[in-house]
Amino acid sequence: MAAHRLRPCVGRLFGMGPELGSGRRAYSAFQAFTEVLRLPSKQLTKLVFPLQELHGHFVPGSRPDLHLNIFHPSLEDIARAESFFTASARNRIEYLTSAVRLDHAPDLRRPEVCFIGRSNVGKSSLIKALFSLAPEVEVRVSKKPGHTKKINFYKVGKHFTLVDMPGYGYRAPEDFVDMVETYLKERKNLMRTFLLVDSVVGIQKADSIAIEMCEEFALPYVMVLTKIDKSSKGHLLKQVLQIQKFVDTKTQGCFPQLFPVSAMTCSGIHLLRCFIADITGNLDY
Ligand code: GDP
Repeated sequence: MAAHRLRPCVGRLFGMGPELGSGRRAYSAFQAFTEVLRLPSKQLTKLVFPLQELHGHFVPGSRPDLHLNIFHPSLEDIARAESFFTASARNRIEYLTSAVRLDHAPDLRRPEVCFIGRSNVGKSSLIKALFSLAPEVEVRVSKKPGHTKKINFYKVGKHFTLVDMPGYGYRAPEDFVDMVETYLKERKNLMRTFLLVDSVVGIQKADSIAIEMCEEFALPYVMVLTKIDKSSKGHLLKQVLQIQKFVDTKTQGCFPQLFPVSAMTCSGIHLLRCFIADITGNLDY
């Protein structure tokens, strides 16, 4: 059901805390990049380049192997990327359709990016944060047990399509696995898969299954670490290092740089928008 129609009780239905369940307000802090640019540099780094900010907390000389600069766009590029995510009469951002099978998916020529993650990882919150500059967009959620899980497609202007894959659990039903697998394996215009991992708990069994799937299909994918506002700095540093080590030593197709984000504070959201704009070919000069 459409999120905006449920607003009065959205927190309860989405299982969110009151802060995130209150619709736009959750993302109101520094929504627009023009406001971010006015921040003191420390705050700006924390909000826009959270991995770099974290890196600064390691003991000098400890040399943690975080990859900070593989994707390190200029502030101008981040501002440019933001325009693709800003709804206007000329740049319509909207829910397109849902599909339970790949042959029901829209046949689109636009490049596609998809978001996958286990239930509760923070996927709907992240997608809402990415779309916070298009407040009319309906981010769909189906969390009630027994409801059919669908793949949801969102059109982002003429630029790309964002695809929200159903959340999975450890014991996902077979038809559900088939649907996700078929999409990942066969979708021709899929440019990148964003695999969400909860930074509080790190890589769980269900995440490993998704990672194995991406590796098996040789997909280019990216690990996004959600809910970074929730842990103490020390705990977060530990998790990030562990996940980085995993990516460096156990994966082939995963982009080496991690993307830590918080849908609550908007940390990392601007950078992620810019990365999406870049890999869908929209930042090409
Ligand atoms: P989904 O099942 O993956 O779509 O997860 P949701 O987006 O519904 O989030 C699951 C729970 O985590 C909800 O209670 C959210 O309020 C909470 N949550 C999601 N993202 C964040 C975040 O960035 N920070 C915090 N503190 N909580 C979050």
